Order: sequence, then structure tokens, then C-alpha cells
Amino acid sequence: MTELTAEERLALWSSILLRVSQEINRANFVTWFKNTAILAWAADEGVLTVGAPTPFAQTQLQRKFQVETFRAAKDILPGCSKVQFEIDATLNYGKSSQVVDLQALLSGKSPAGEKRPRSSTGAEQPALGGDSSGGERMETQTLNRRYTLENFIVGDENRLAFAAAKAVAQSPGRTYNPLFIYGGVGLGKTHLLQAIGNALASKHHMKNIIYKASDTLANEFIQAMGSQRGKQFKNRYRNADCLIIDDVQFLASKTQTQIEVFHTFNTLYELGKQIVLSSDRPPREIKALEERLRSRFEMGMIADIQHPSYETRLAILRAKAQESGHLLPADVLEYVAEHTGSNVRELEGILTQIVAQIELTNSSPSVASIRDILRHSSSAFDDRSTSPEKPISHEDVIQRVAEHFSLSHADIVGAVRKKEIVVPRQICMYLIRKDLGYSYEKTGEIFGGRNHTTVMHAFTKISRELKSDKQLLKHVTTLRRALAE
Ligand code: ADP
Ligand code: MG
Repeated sequence: MTELTAEERLALWSSILLRVSQEINRANFVTWFKNTAILAWAADEGVLTVGAPTPFAQTQLQRKFQVETFRAAKDILPGCSKVQFEIDATLNYGKSSQVVDLQALLSGKSPAGEKRPRSSTGAEQPALGGDSSGGERMETQTLNRRYTLENFIVGDENRLAFAAAKAVAQSPGRTYNPLFIYGGVGLGKTHLLQAIGNALASKHHMKNIIYKASDTLANEFIQAMGSQRGKQFKNRYRNADCLIIDDVQFLASKTQTQIEVFHTFNTLYELGKQIVLSSDRPPREIKALEERLRSRFEMGMIADIQHPSYETRLAILRAKAQESGHLLPADVLEYVAEHTGSNVRELEGILTQIVAQIELTNSSPSVASIRDILRHSSSAFDDRSTSPEKPISHEDVIQRVAEHFSLSHADIVGAVRKKEIVVPRQICMYLIRKDLGYSYEKTGEIFGGRNHTTVMHAFTKISRELKSDKQLLKHVTTLRRALAE
């Protein structure tokens, strides 16, 4: 067994961490991978041992990030068959020469960030030289196996998108081509797209599945053009068995990339290959998108995902709580579902905090104890809001406004432009901005990821009209009174 030197271990871990950081969110990455290091690499057994500074970190890493770490490790050490986490309390001091500076890594200042250090011994070079293959680097954005169709919770708001995803996963290239899924932030678009890819890989043994976020695609394209690798780039995409492009709204204004996507689309389409796309809005609302590309996007099935209702939120929480291996009392889950935003990512964030609290304090959570978490979570409650017993969330406001005007939650946060919906929606934006103190941006996010200028417009309009429109004033006053109860 070849022992790696301390320097090699550090370089190796930097390279692996860099990959992991691209897979998981930044907060999780910085929290859990802080003060970690490679303790050993047993090349003959393929076991990589990673040290964690505390027992808590060790369990978290083992439970939550083992998959990501293993995949990143395997990218660099093809012989790796297992990653295990062990506690090494000396890492706690963060001074060990083995510990990678995560901030430097993320900002590209660390060796692994930009240029990899050369290994002094030729033997280990392939292990550290993940970059050397040049064009191959574009393949690193891959499918995350955590996203499956099986663990996607179906509610009325996403039923159509889910059914379409399932159909595509069953018979790619036949039923819906392309499949275009759109909806606001954190509502499960990426999850569904990746789940399709995963299903095609496992059930159809499809090999060449390309998943890309459209901004990554655009960057790669620019790089490929600049470095004369354009042809290779084109071939790679045109040989895909399934092409998945996430967040195509970012293709707006990127004319060259759009042209390339257009040609790739045509090639794949004619070959009967499946294409799946997502966006935060329907094709016709994506500005600065070439007409011919837009019409391609509209050729197959367009399915939207709306904000989850209380029932769906509760179902998601139940499923995720179970996944986390913790038993949460029903009233706690109900309380969270009632008081959190209509975005699944926020819901997950809060659940993570609850689970962390359980693990730290070793006690079962109560409604009282999680109220605190919710209060400190900007997504659920505004810190400056009324009395601590009864904080008002933006969900409360949406619910009240919907009830008051006999509309549905989906109407309020949706995109339908009928007058009888638009005015209540604007009132709702106004109240969330004015009474809960949310920023324009954040308010926009709640309303299906709308631009902050839309919210600003609504806010100014309602503020102005309140001065003269008695009817409007009456609505707003009634709503405020109801919310304060
Ligand atoms: P989007 O791409 O629409 O912004 P994501 O797909 O990234 O949203 O979803 C955010 C998080 O919420 C992910 O962790 C995802 O697994 C989870 N999620 C969203 N919708 C669902 C659902 N219906 N069932 C289970 N998990 C979901
Ligand atoms: Mg996404």
C-alpha cells in the first residue's frame, strides 16, 4: 500500500472537496466539511478514510453526504470503492496541516480551485490529475441520485408535471418531446428533471444522458468556442441519448448558445431522443429567446408546478422527516406545514434545523421549541412581526387574501392575469412588503419567482390607490384586522 504524503493528501482532499462543493449547497458544505481531512487512502482495497472533527459531524457526513463524497472521490480516484468517515478530534482545532481552507477553495484561491499542484511522485499523478483531460471536464455535472421519481411527493400542484415526467421516464422520446416543466423557485423542477435522468439510466440503461443547467451550458459553450474545442462540444451534445437542460430562462440573450441549442435540439429530436427542459416561467414569457427556439420548446408537453398547498406541504414534511430517521410528533409537522412558506426548499431547510436540534439536544421537539426555529427562520416569519405568540407569515397573508376574495392559493401566487385575480395578488404583495417588511426580491420569490420590479409596481400602485379608492381601503383594512386576530 502506497502511503500518500501529507501534501498529497491535502491536494487530493482539495480536489474532492471542490467537486463536492459543486453538488451540495454552500451552507451545508461549509458547515459539515469544515475541519475534515483525509486520514488514509488504502489503494489496494479502494477505501478512503476521511476524518471528521466531532462525532456529530461524523454522523452527519456519513448519513447525508456520503454519496456525494464517494462520487467526487471516485471521479478522482477511479479505484475508490468506499468512503468512510472517522472521528479525529485533533481536527477540531482546524490547525492541522491536513485541513483545507474551504473559503479559499470556494473562491478559487486554493490549489484545487484553479490549478492543481503537480504531484512529486509520478505514480499518484493520475489520481490528482482529474483536470488533465481537458474537454472531459464538461461531464462533471452529473445526476444526483438523491432525486428520484419514487421520493417525489405528488400533490395537486405538481401532479401533471409528475405524470409527464413518469411517462417520459417510461418511454423516452415517444410521449412528450420535449417535456417542458416550469414553476417558481424550490418547487421541485430540478428534482423531477434529475429523477427522469436517473430513471432512464437505471431502467433503460441509457448511457449518454446529459444534464446541464443552462448557464453552465452557456459557459462551457463559450469556453469551447474560445479554445477551438467547438466541434467536440457539438458532437458531445448531438450524440446524447437524452438531453436535460435546467433553467432555460438563463439562455435569454445568450444568442450564440441559443443557436447551438437550437441545432442540437433539431438533431436530437429527429433522432427521436428525449429532451427535457425546465424554466421558472413558460416559454412564451422568456424574454430575449429566439422565436424558433421558443417554438421548439413549445412543441411537446408543457407542465407547470404550482406552490404546494398545506396538504402537500404536510405530506412532504412527513416523507422527509421519515427519511431523516427521526420521529416527529404530528402536531409539530402540522405546525410547520401551517407556518412555512410555500417553497419546498424552505420546508427542507426548516426540517434540517429541527433535526439538528433533536440531535444536538437529544430531545423530542415540541411545538413550542420549534416555534423558535421558525421565528428565526426568515423564510417562515418576519423577525419584526407582531407578538411572539402569533407571528404572521407570508403564508398567512396569502391564505387570508385568497379567502377574502374567494380565490385559491395558486391563484394568488400564480401567473394568471385576470383582473379579479391581479388586484388581490397586488394587495397581497403590498401587505407582505409593507406589513411583514419583506424585500421586493423576496416577495417576488414567493410569487413564483417574479421579478422585483413587478412587486415594486404592485406596491406603488396599491399605495397610491389606497389614498383615493375607498373600496380598496376597506379590503386592506379588513384583511389587516383579520391577520391581527
Ligand atoms: P427547483 O429546481 O424548482 O428550484 P428543486 O428541485 O431544487 O427546486 O427542489 C428543492 C428541494 O425540494 C429539493 O431538495 C427537492 O428534492 C425538494 N422537493 C421539491 N418538491 C418536492 C416534492 N414534491 N417531493 C419531494 N421533494 C421535493
Ligand atoms: Mg432548480
